[in-house]
Amino acid sequence: MLEVELRRNTRQKRVILQSVEQLGCHPTAIQIFSAVRKVLPRTSLSTVYRNLGILVDQGKIKAVKGTGTEIHYDHNTGEHNHIKCKVCGRVCDVNIEPVDIDTLNSEAVSNFVVLEVCMNILGICPECAEQLEREKTQ
Ligand SMILES: [Zn+2]
Ligand SMILES: [Zn+2]
Repeated sequence: MLEVELRRNTRQKRVILQSVEQLGCHPTAIQIFSAVRKVLPRTSLSTVYRNLGILVDQGKIKAVKGTGTEIHYDHNTGEHNHIKCKVCGRVCDVNIEPVDIDTLNSEAVSNFVVLEVCMNILGICPECAEQLEREKTQ
């Protein structure tokens, strides 16, 4: 690979990582894409997808599981759970005690060997709740 191209790729990856951090609240690839384009206008969506995959593989970011068809990305790579707004699709962290896999009753999990527990809660975010309330009173 040409050195110039290599430098460009490194820069793109850095900007993509920065965007995930700055956007906070678990952006999707599309949201990351539009943030990256403000800094590097020639970046393609496929480049963003490719780099997000690399960053996940490198453990620099996490792909949030089980929140629907669209993947949300998380700069917080520590173990934690998520809540998703049913209305606007926004994903936020939930701070509850993680389930201790070793204490799970095997019958309760149909005698499966549990590898991972990821809990996803569905809800309505404060903004959407307020909006719905407003519509009701109109
Ligand atoms: Zn919402
Ligand atoms: Zn998170």
